[in-house]
Amino acid sequence: MSCLKQTGESAPAHGAGDFNAYEVMQPRVPEPTPPERRNGARVKSADVPPSGVYLPNNNVLAPHMRSPEYVQLSTAAAMTLGIMPGRMHRCECTRCLNLLLTYPEGCRANCAYCGLARHREAERDYADRNFIRVDWPAVPVEQIIEIVARDGAGSPFHRMCISMITHPRSDADTVAVLRAWTRRIDPASIPVSILSNPTTMEREDVVRLKELGADIFTVALDAATPAIFDRTRGKGVQSPHKWSKYWEILHVAREVFGPQKFGAHIIIGMGETEFEALELVQQLVDLGGHSHMFCFFPEKGSLMDHLPATPRDQWRRVQLARYLIDYAAVRIEQMRFDERGRVIDYGVAPEMLERIIAEGVAFRTSGCPGKFRDDISACDRPYGDSPPSDIASFPFAPNRTDLRRIRRQLRIPVVREDS
Ligand code: SF4
Repeated sequence: MSCLKQTGESAPAHGAGDFNAYEVMQPRVPEPTPPERRNGARVKSADVPPSGVYLPNNNVLAPHMRSPEYVQLSTAAAMTLGIMPGRMHRCECTRCLNLLLTYPEGCRANCAYCGLARHREAERDYADRNFIRVDWPAVPVEQIIEIVARDGAGSPFHRMCISMITHPRSDADTVAVLRAWTRRIDPASIPVSILSNPTTMEREDVVRLKELGADIFTVALDAATPAIFDRTRGKGVQSPHKWSKYWEILHVAREVFGPQKFGAHIIIGMGETEFEALELVQQLVDLGGHSHMFCFFPEKGSLMDHLPATPRDQWRRVQLARYLIDYAAVRIEQMRFDERGRVIDYGVAPEMLERIIAEGVAFRTSGCPGKFRDDISACDRPYGDSPPSDIASFPFAPNRTDLRRIRRQLRIPVVREDS
């Protein structure tokens, strides 16, 4: 048999260009928040009534907006709806309407990589916080639904997603937003995904969302190992999440939503090895689900904003191997890894690897599918995990110049070894 081995020099010891090692990716400890800034106190005491769309601006006092009447939505979705002006680099629109529940108290968790984390209440009101590199304007739910219903079959959206945050109201309000949506919009024409918050959920919450018409249920594990989870989302940063609870709800989602209708988010480059990340990808596929991947980017204002973004070669190797496992029936056991857990052999014939690289789908944003193909995500999240100058997840099909760059990042071409 023949196998593929990467060319290229050996890696530096830790996180300085080849991969982000566990020892390097240590979050800062959160500072205590002054009592007068806790729990959205500033927004609640000023009690400015909301009126229409609120565009994040740190110099303006955020009005008192709450779900289920209000949600935040990604800048890409706001531009696609025509609510915000502007154009996106090399993208006409986004295919996923990402909605985020919103409260003056904000998210009550403290995840180290997240711009919405609780510790930020010391410096920014909830509706002014950046999340996955962009602002999230707050908009009345009815206004969003009105535009999508008006556009009907001409809507650019292939999917809608409700992202829960950690808040005592988020289970009930996810139901309320889903009900409001399905009253006007047929979920068969624009399917709905739920990005869940397992910490506040029980089995009956998952069942209710399925009964109300949700199509796909995802769990943002984010961390690829229990140790990284605890350090970035649990006790390590005074945050309430537990790995075991996330897996409990993931298994419930598998039962309730069924094969191919559940999945987990994984952020690559927070200290896991490539082998650990891909072992998790394989585990999800073996359960009948999918993995949705994000490249770690040091979000401004987060507890990890001093740390390096994931080196592109690490990211590309994991992206490619994940695609092979998720969509090409390749198993992790066929792959080979070096002593630091890096992929050195993808376990497929060179011709197949070449065909998959040349097609470029493996390097596009991963997530719940849209209407083009099962392996092309509706959730394209333009520039959510990288700047446009150095794209990690491509929100569109990479062109020939992009693919040349990707090959360099992968350190492909590869040498062929006979064994
Ligand atoms: S639960 Fe989600 S929104 Fe809240 S801090 Fe963690 S990653 Fe951010």
